[in-house]
Amino acid sequence: MSRPAIADIHLDHLRHNYQLARRVHGHRVLAALKANAYGHGAVPCAQALSGLADGFGVAAIEEALELRAAGITAPILLLEGFFDASELPLIAQHKLWLTVHHRWQVDALLAAELSQPLHVWLKLDSGMHRVGLDPQEYRAAHAALLASGKVSEMVLMSHFARADELDAEATRQQLALFQQCTEGLSGARSLANSPGLMGWPAAHSDWGRAGIMLYGSTPFPQSHPIANDLKPVMRLSSKVIGVRELAANEPIGYGGATLTSRPSRIGVVALGYADGYPRIARNGTPVAIDGQHSQLLGRVSMDMLTVDLTDLPACGLGSEVELWGPTVRVEQVAASAQTISYEILCNVKRAHFRYHGGKA
Ligand SMILES: *Cc1c(COP(=O)(O)O)cnc(C)c1O
Repeated sequence: MSRPAIADIHLDHLRHNYQLARRVHGHRVLAALKANAYGHGAVPCAQALSGLADGFGVAAIEEALELRAAGITAPILLLEGFFDASELPLIAQHKLWLTVHHRWQVDALLAAELSQPLHVWLKLDSGMHRVGLDPQEYRAAHAALLASGKVSEMVLMSHFARADELDAEATRQQLALFQQCTEGLSGARSLANSPGLMGWPAAHSDWGRAGIMLYGSTPFPQSHPIANDLKPVMRLSSKVIGVRELAANEPIGYGGATLTSRPSRIGVVALGYADGYPRIARNGTPVAIDGQHSQLLGRVSMDMLTVDLTDLPACGLGSEVELWGPTVRVEQVAASAQTISYEILCNVKRAHFRYHGGKA
């Protein structure tokens, strides 16, 4: 192997985080593996969780079929359901579960010729106003689907817009509306995403749906007791491939946007935005060089970025640089790039993926 940009994926940490989610929730938990398992590799993550996870969640049938082709037999929920009724035969054939979140999907399902009834998660818009049936149409859709014989099992679900705000009145309102709309209806319930699961015990129900926490990242901006027990699954690292000694007031990198504030030693690291490191990460974004804290300096380029070695005289050519992992929290990098860890992790690519802690 030549280029040293590496994403180490610790599957034992993924299993640890899943077990923690299950313990906190107290009931079944679906593991969200959409978007290539938030950038970690959907197939190896599904294999690591198989026999442990109660089911998996993906965005679309393509992602589900990739898991089925890899031998995953656990339940797989299509979190956006189907995009076209022509997918329904494959959904039935591969025993996929599907979300129904819009009136057109209800109608298409009622009109479909199915070889067998389907397992449906009927989604209510309880206030996020993205997908989900309106409160006024929810009970009628539930009744029509049950009466049609096209549905073998129904789970009643909704999704929170602001559960990462630990005292959001909006979340209490969503819970109350869900309660009111589903009162007396048959079927299991599913409400909590990671922030719901970690921070809103009132949102615990038959099925949790955990994503970001499984990958060891907290959804909360502030510290949280459960977050302390999460283990980061990904460690992104590379090496110093060049060192420059610069006087004060010398520009570094494209645009000359950063000037050295003092006589400086700058390390050039073989990892850039084409590997998923955010280009807009600011000067001062934390990195760890041979385990010691330092910072990004200068603009990130496609294949390289530059870090400050001035206070680390023992570091130089060949030093190992952690961009995020156990030492540098991915949330800090995300905050420095004005985004969330979800987006940072999803974007990782090109770096060489190495898997650890898989099952024998
Ligand atoms: C992705 C997803 C989740 C997981 O969300 P996290 O915040 O990552 O835990 C839960 N529910 C649905 C419907 C999703 O699409």
